[in-house]
Amino acid sequence: MRPDLEVADIFRSAGPTYRAAHAGHLSLHQLKVMSAIETCRTAALGGHVEACEDCGHWRVAYNSCRNRHCPKCQGAAARTWLAEREADLLPVGYFHVVFTLPAEIADIAWQNKALVYDLLFRAASETMLTIAADPMRTNRKSAVSPLSASSRLTASPASSLKLSASIGNWSPRSMS
Ligand SMILES: [Zn+2]
Repeated sequence: MRPDLEVADIFRSAGPTYRAAHAGHLSLHQLKVMSAIETCRTAALGGHVEACEDCGHWRVAYNSCRNRHCPKCQGAAARTWLAEREADLLPVGYFHVVFTLPAEIADIAWQNKALVYDLLFRAASETMLTIAADPMRTNRKSAVSPLSASSRLTASPASSLKLSASIGNWSPRSMS
């Protein structure tokens, strides 16, 4: 069932004005993503016929953009991925830890993504390992384990970089 308002509706309505206002500041990649989302499952991408082999019922459906940023195309895939990641989690409480770099580093990171992100991940990992190994910093009945860490890196050129890590907290005895 189609929701009342989709991202594509917003893009089709406000996209032309947004593109005009930000002309020269949007990358070709960003423009392609906007176009894909706007035209997904419309006559612009053509259509195909879907038919049931049992009852013979058929219908014409518009083609999908298949862009990985399109919420209509990737919504089901994202839900499946999330369910699979949740199945990996231990049945314990989790803490959300955020590592932030100063905004001044954003420009350097933007030009040297692999190097800066690698440094950020390594620094975050070493920090969590150090804290987990220090009994003075952890609850005696529980331990923080970076083994269960799942990380997500968010960055934008205009703001500071953030590395989010979810850290599980459980008793080591329960592992045996
Ligand atoms: Zn799509």
